Amino acid sequence: MPLILDLERAYNEARSDAGCDAELNDLLAHYAGRPSPLYYAQRLTEHLREVATKDGQTGGAKVYFKRDELNHTGSHKINNCLGQILLARRMGKTRIIAETGAGQHGVAVATVCARFGLPCEIFMGATDVERQKPNVFRMNLLGAKVHAVTSGAGTLKDAMNEALRDWVSNVENTYYIIGTAAGPHPYPELVRDFQSVIGNELRQQMMEREGRLPDTLVACIGGGSNAIGLFHPFLDDAEIEIYGVEAGGHGIDVPNGHAASMSGGSPGVLHGNRTFLLQNEDGQILEGHSISAGLDYPGVGPEHAWLKETGRVNYVPATDKEALTAFQLCTRLEGIIPALEPSHALAFVTKLAPTLPRDNLLVMNMCGRGDKDIFAVAGHLGMDI
Ligand SMILES: *Cc1c(COP(=O)(O)O)cnc(C)c1O
Repeated sequence: MPLILDLERAYNEARSDAGCDAELNDLLAHYAGRPSPLYYAQRLTEHLREVATKDGQTGGAKVYFKRDELNHTGSHKINNCLGQILLARRMGKTRIIAETGAGQHGVAVATVCARFGLPCEIFMGATDVERQKPNVFRMNLLGAKVHAVTSGAGTLKDAMNEALRDWVSNVENTYYIIGTAAGPHPYPELVRDFQSVIGNELRQQMMEREGRLPDTLVACIGGGSNAIGLFHPFLDDAEIEIYGVEAGGHGIDVPNGHAASMSGGSPGVLHGNRTFLLQNEDGQILEGHSISAGLDYPGVGPEHAWLKETGRVNYVPATDKEALTAFQLCTRLEGIIPALEPSHALAFVTKLAPTLPRDNLLVMNMCGRGDKDIFAVAGHLGMDI
């Protein structure tokens, strides 16, 4: 408790400090490459209008992508890492630790540690170390030490357990950069705030482009950080429809076959927060499955659990197969190779957009690029590269 109370105090001080804000904004602009563009996906829009017409409908929303895949390191994760490393430095911490599953967050943390000259240790499940060798190599190149965690199933949940253990035994000098909007308070709040740059930029960009706010927002959900970053600045605009898309894997009805904690899980406590989890009747955490390594956390940030219960946000699953189809569609129609994570959001967009009127402004968060996924996709399509 003293650790997280200390963090909460430091965070509250930092966010009312204009100097801190200016430094973060400078890094976001010149290091990460923000603001990310708001792009009108014209060919995808026209394609989905044809689909609507074939179905005897007159609809087909105007689809925009928020291009967070263009950020440095290839996803939205850098937004949060830059914010947290400034906080760590402000707190006088001299050692950084983090957990990672697929390695995307680990790479982003190792990147900001290199940028600030701080030693970095990454906890990663042993199974994931084996599965994600290119990212382990990237982290090593950036100067980070990667610990392979052999407890449990050797995946993300176990890596996070180990990082929390390290943190409480190295209280004095260590800062723990959590990679999603989950974990003990104040992490869900501060990660949300750092990712809200996505939604805040979008408000302004859409006003410039269309003279009004969007009608529909869609984002994929792993732990929920890119989604809450897009959604949060719009939650009070009650007329805006919001959708979070979870990893439906082989299908919600297949036991251990998905990673949809809200569509197919139940409430419980993990890693310091009460939320929806994949668990058995004894409260033991189950391994999630998803075609995309970034979506298989067995829980979801607590604010999403609340948004589900209040009904403000709709949570829906998309399967592996649907994501793979959407991945190919986007690549061919827009010349953008999406990560498999936002391909889930896109899969839902291809179902939703044809049912919406043509003047509906729909924005999907393109939260990561697909370069990292091409080998996995080749495998699923039965191709050799
Ligand atoms: C890590 C990752 C995710 C999942 O994390 P959230 O916290 O749910 O955003 C989604 N997309 C990409 C591209 C990622 O790298």
